[in-house]
Amino acid sequence: MARRAPAARAEPANEPITIGEVTVQPGSRELVLLPVTVLYTSNPVEMPVHVICGKRPGPRLFVSAAIHGDELNGIEIIRRLLKSSALRHLRGTLVAVPIVNVFGVLNHSRYLPDRRDLNRSFPGSDHGSLTARLAHLFMEEIVAKCTHGIDLHTGALHRDNLPQIRAHMDDDETARLARAFGVPVLLNSVLRDGSLRQAADESGIKMLLYEAGEALRFDEVSIRVGVAGILNVMRELGMLAARHKKPHKPKKEPFTARSSSWLRAPQGGIFRAFVGLGEHIGPNTVLGMVSDPMGVEEEPILSPNSGIVIGRTNLPLVNEGDALFHVARFERSKQAEHAAVAVAELHDFHEGLPPDETEIR
Ligand SMILES: [Zn+2]
Repeated sequence: MARRAPAARAEPANEPITIGEVTVQPGSRELVLLPVTVLYTSNPVEMPVHVICGKRPGPRLFVSAAIHGDELNGIEIIRRLLKSSALRHLRGTLVAVPIVNVFGVLNHSRYLPDRRDLNRSFPGSDHGSLTARLAHLFMEEIVAKCTHGIDLHTGALHRDNLPQIRAHMDDDETARLARAFGVPVLLNSVLRDGSLRQAADESGIKMLLYEAGEALRFDEVSIRVGVAGILNVMRELGMLAARHKKPHKPKKEPFTARSSSWLRAPQGGIFRAFVGLGEHIGPNTVLGMVSDPMGVEEEPILSPNSGIVIGRTNLPLVNEGDALFHVARFERSKQAEHAAVAVAELHDFHEGLPPDETEIR
């Protein structure tokens, strides 16, 4: 009796996804222009949404940028991500939104024309302010249709951030994805502030926030670490196949900071910084100096405890109370020392990445 060939195991197909009026079928990718509003010039405002619906089922991940309209690194991270050859074999669905706050990007501004901060206005409402309506639209059309999310940010104007992940680290799956991203410092934060992360968390969507670089600037290391990080998270979620190649170096465990604080200018003056991003500082380290322009009256900036510098102002002109250094604190200073080593490696980090993934021009 002839042996019958074993039947090929049929894998269920991915589900189509509908954003706005457009349904994207499994195995296809589309640019959806989601209507936001009409300006007083009668010009329509649309949010560009790139949807890649894989043939095979899997998680639905959204990646969003420019919720703050002057934070641009994420726009470039998404451009490179969408060109990555790794996405050809995507499982599940990727929903990439490079410009959420279209108004802010047009005006080089963090805010909307009604002067509100979108990331303090979630979940929003369909009959509230312009900002509340945009928040509501994003929740309904993007967040509610996804299982996971990564939101991309930078520091504020004249302020630089070390590449870092902020996430709700007490949630096991979120913590696993945060570690997979591949940055040396993870900041645990549970917010109640109207942020997208809070609203997504309350809807049961696992979310990471990536912070890196400065407003209105592109920073190459921040961009490459961001692209690689998103691909790492997608591998961890099973959306992309795991890498066969051995990693460049054994992967270091990132360190989780439970708290952070800003050190502020004790007086107005000219500010000089003595430490950079990623540096490990002990208690009473002199981080910088604020003085009058002649240097007659000098006031040192002392760190109250040990930690890692994760944010810093780049503007030497400071008023009393201006934020100078953002320091992540660690429970044990030993931890901070290890993290400092890992941070130093970050500057060479991109050299260990396959060029096709992060260096797309
Ligand atoms: Zn931001």
